[in-house]
Amino acid sequence: MAINRRTFNIKLASGLIGAFILPSSALSFNRDKVNQKKLGVALVGLGSYSKWQLAPALLDTEYCYLAGIVTGTTSKEKEWMDKYNIPRENVYNYENFDEVVNNDAIDIVYVVLPNSMHANFSIRAAKAGKHVICEKPMAVSVAECDAIIKACKDADVKLSVGYRMQSDPYTNEIKRLVKEKPFGKVHYVSSDAAYISRGNPNQWRLNRKLSGGGALVNMGVYSIQSNIYGTGTNPISVSAQEFSTRPEYFKDTDETITAQMEFPNGVVGSMFTSHNAKANRLFVSFRNGWAELNPAHSYGPLSGRTSDGKEIKFPHQSQQMVQMDDFAKHILTGSANFAPGEMGKRDMIIVEAIYKSIKESGKTIPLNLGNMGIVSA
Ligand code: NAD
Repeated sequence: MAINRRTFNIKLASGLIGAFILPSSALSFNRDKVNQKKLGVALVGLGSYSKWQLAPALLDTEYCYLAGIVTGTTSKEKEWMDKYNIPRENVYNYENFDEVVNNDAIDIVYVVLPNSMHANFSIRAAKAGKHVICEKPMAVSVAECDAIIKACKDADVKLSVGYRMQSDPYTNEIKRLVKEKPFGKVHYVSSDAAYISRGNPNQWRLNRKLSGGGALVNMGVYSIQSNIYGTGTNPISVSAQEFSTRPEYFKDTDETITAQMEFPNGVVGSMFTSHNAKANRLFVSFRNGWAELNPAHSYGPLSGRTSDGKEIKFPHQSQQMVQMDDFAKHILTGSANFAPGEMGKRDMIIVEAIYKSIKESGKTIPLNLGNMGIVSA
């Protein structure tokens, strides 16, 4: 029987079944402690991801709820207050946001702004004593990731990156196959994350100052992530190439990038990311078989299969709901943080190495990541 982590945690908490696929930290899951309080989340930035994914998911979360909003658009305030029953005192704008320090109803600040604004708001949230979820990519440089991590450490607050795939059962099944080796060890992984951008050429995602990069920082981080959970290790080097077929549209940001990664023990990885192609797949080749997710990175339901003819299948749940509940449980019980700040920083180190390789005509760039950002679950 396929069982997802939420169902599993609850069964585990009620003592119905024993340890199976859970991280060891979840063994200390304490339902009474969690039941004390739902944590209040404030969304910063009410654009499409907040509006269509995060806010609806927060209606279904068990351990957190939508308590507040931070918006630069006054006209959105009333609509959100009415729809989500948010009191006026929990509504902020970008200027008065720091006053959240005085608001006990807000426990977690979730930064859902253009990438170049992540560091500013994450650091301000930490200084206000709030736990932070920062959307992907974590920031627009490794230096900014460091600054966010330091601010959260100094303020003794928890930090997570909005990597919803890390809470997805299909992704976790890939991690399990890699770890338990029913098909032997991994030899090769290939991952694609791409869509065709046709919208307003002035949108922030195509403006390097606001986005920090193009397809690589937007979709490529999914490919980087799935190369890593598809092998269970960090790459030791990367080389990359860039392709441009619509330079008149992608004036300021990368359109298509391919990269090859070398992992320890001779494992090889390949990734493709683009704002000008449709691709959404993870393929893991083991010594004695393979596993594939296609789609692999979208909101779900995902779809997967293995070389023995079996389907990978789990009941569909909102990834965002599970992701935010996982972080709330991490705060409440000390269970694992499935997407810590170090993971976001590690991916930004790889992003910077990929851009460096492209600049140096595909030169192999060594990486010295050790186990940075690997969560043993
Ligand atoms: P969006 O363009 O729909 O919304 C951006 C929001 O930021 C809007 O509310 C806008 O008013 C506000 N904003 C403030 N200053 C701005 C400026 N100078 N320029 C443009 N907008 C400004 O974007 P989105 O799709 O909601 O993405 C927001 C963040 O969420 C990004 O970091 C993105 O990578 C991330 N995201 C993550 C996922 C995921 O699956 N984890 C999915 C979508 C987006």
